[in-house]
Amino acid sequence: MTTIDASLRALEIQGTTVPKLGFGTWEILGRDCEEGVSDALEIGYRHIDTAQAYDNEAEVGRALAAGDVPRNELFLTTKLWRDEFAPDRVRPSAEGSLERLQVDHVDLLLLHWPNDAVPLEETLGALASLREEGLVKHYGVSNFPAGMLREALKVAPVFADQVEFHPYLGQDALVELAAERDFMVTAYSPLARGKVPQDETLRAIGEAHGKTAGQVALRWLLDKPNVATIPKASSHERRVENFEVFDFELTDAERAQIDALPKDERVIDPRWAPDWDA
Ligand code: NAP
Repeated sequence: MTTIDASLRALEIQGTTVPKLGFGTWEILGRDCEEGVSDALEIGYRHIDTAQAYDNEAEVGRALAAGDVPRNELFLTTKLWRDEFAPDRVRPSAEGSLERLQVDHVDLLLLHWPNDAVPLEETLGALASLREEGLVKHYGVSNFPAGMLREALKVAPVFADQVEFHPYLGQDALVELAAERDFMVTAYSPLARGKVPQDETLRAIGEAHGKTAGQVALRWLLDKPNVATIPKASSHERRVENFEVFDFELTDAERAQIDALPKDERVIDPRWAPDWDA
């Protein structure tokens, strides 16, 4: 068995260690979610991503409570939905998440999407209070383009920006800013929601290493500074596959080949999305 350097598996962000590879839970509901999270913990995932909008915080909470992973070994993220950003809503809303998750704090609380109906500094101020009281270890944002993130950093020590990021959509400006300002970029939909595993270029690269196209894409993301990722999979086999990405290395030429794929394909673009060039 290959020994894997612990520094490959974790990031250090603002003095906190974060497992780079997390388990995403969007669209896994009910018993499937509870069993999926329990299985992910058994496989070795120590970073779990949920959200109020996923309607599965209670199931994630039940799986965590039933498991035997010490709380301090787990990095748990949830997200406030965008109609909960008024300062007087933030606390009760976050408390609801903690109750459903059966924890006294989350490691990271994100604003799920920008919402310009509430001034950002007001929402970030309310999140800072939650942090002071220990209800959240860190707070951050999601779906903030680099320009908006720069603005957010003027008011608060944002810990993370969770954004769509895969071989067909780059995040160069954000990754550069993250390395400069010490925050995490969490790559969501890293498999482009199932398209990546079919990719011929990625498959060919994988063959040279005995790996799949999906594993190549995950490793390509995780080789970037300050980047974590959170693939979702419904089966045990796929969850194992997505976790086994640290026992091989991409060459510079292979990374360049993936960098060179067109980077203009967004798989998540709802009507409330911001101007992505902001
Ligand atoms: P994803 O992880 O890119 O892809 C999931 C899809 O890929 C599913 O259809 C899954 O199929 C398939 N898949 C997974 N592993 C595979 C493998 N090894 N081989 C072949 N196919 C595989 O998409 P995502 O769920 O959109 O993104 C991941 C997580 O990011 C979400 O679960 C959520 O936690 C987070 N997210 C956040 C936001 C945000 O706004 N902040 C938006 C989107 C996603 P099966 O499920 O059938 O196995």
